[in-house]
Amino acid sequence: MHPNPLFDARAPADRPRSLYVHVPFCTRRCSYCDFAVQATREAPTAEWMDAVAGEMRMLAAERGWDGPLRLDTVYVGGGTPSLLGPDAMAALRDRLRPWAVWDDDAEWTCEANPESFTPDVARGWRAAGVNRISLGAQTFHEPTLRWMGRLHGPDGPARAFGAAREAGIGNVSVDLIFGVPARLERDWGADLVQALLLEPEHVSLYGLTAEAAAPLGRWVGEGRETLADEDRYADEYMLAHTTLTGAGFQHYEVSNFGLPGLRSRHNFAYWTGEPYAALGPGAHAFYPPLRRWNVRSWDAYRDHVAAGRLPTDDEETVDADTGGLERAWLLLRTDQGWPMDDAGEAVVRLADGWTERRLARVADRRLRLTAEGWLLLDTLALQMATAAEVDERAAALTA
Ligand code: SF4
Repeated sequence: MHPNPLFDARAPADRPRSLYVHVPFCTRRCSYCDFAVQATREAPTAEWMDAVAGEMRMLAAERGWDGPLRLDTVYVGGGTPSLLGPDAMAALRDRLRPWAVWDDDAEWTCEANPESFTPDVARGWRAAGVNRISLGAQTFHEPTLRWMGRLHGPDGPARAFGAAREAGIGNVSVDLIFGVPARLERDWGADLVQALLLEPEHVSLYGLTAEAAAPLGRWVGEGRETLADEDRYADEYMLAHTTLTGAGFQHYEVSNFGLPGLRSRHNFAYWTGEPYAALGPGAHAFYPPLRRWNVRSWDAYRDHVAAGRLPTDDEETVDADTGGLERAWLLLRTDQGWPMDDAGEAVVRLADGWTERRLARVADRRLRLTAEGWLLLDTLALQMATAAEVDERAAALTA
């Protein structure tokens, strides 16, 4: 079988340079959310810190990591990390220090929601070393914010931005959601302009979907709510592409836009098949070729760790067979694209067809999807994985 560079088994000593830490607490659940979160008035910060440090200690022992990991990227996501308060990131860094360290050159991102990202939190996090914030704005349209169950008003993101800038955080990403129900009369173009007026370094888009475990999934299932149809979904995606690239952003991944030099380094570890460690409820890790994920519930997670057990829910080994589709999906989802240097006949034919339909273009011997192509990413990745396999079989027959 042709070697699959993304999923070759690496030596067990291969040490992750990226770490994800999940904070499973939110003040209340948003209507569209099916993440591993628990609604709580006050986050049990000390308990969470003990559990995460306990998991890290057990994980390091289990993986045989000798000495602390040296990390290039750290991402604290959720949930609502900003609920943990101003001292939480300094405490997290201290608690993890025996097993993981990172310096000022590392990209340290924390997710924050506007209502809890106060000037105190911003200052405390910056002093700890946080240098990138991912801010959950979602929309600036008041009725849509209410429908989503968000706790901030239309002015919340600007206040949070001000806090970040005043604290000296120069890299802020804004999350926006598109494809909301038409009856809400949200003006997507106006929201994009509002986001740009904040002068962010990065924008992440989320196309609204009705996940079965989210309240929205139930509303749609009961016929009480209707999502955007395919045409409007595509129109809004394309409007975001045109507006943001027109403002100088690079559309470098299906859902992500960054100013030059300001792409998410952490997410690139996910998209390029690098190993990454993960802590917290529902967190997914990759220790090639092993993919592993934790139990989702906070209570179960805390109890596992307290009992001295790793909180693993399940794991799978990614081999060359299962990795083929994933490799296509990962390579095509960013602007690194598919390498055409040793492309066989089937891949070349497919690439020609996509290029004619303006779903992709070839530059520097890489086949890169256009925004129109990214709208069809799942289908195109499957086509590419199939074509690559056809070429591999043909090559094996003639070898
Ligand atoms: S704030 Fe984020 S994680 Fe929390 S409920 Fe809302 S969407 Fe989910």
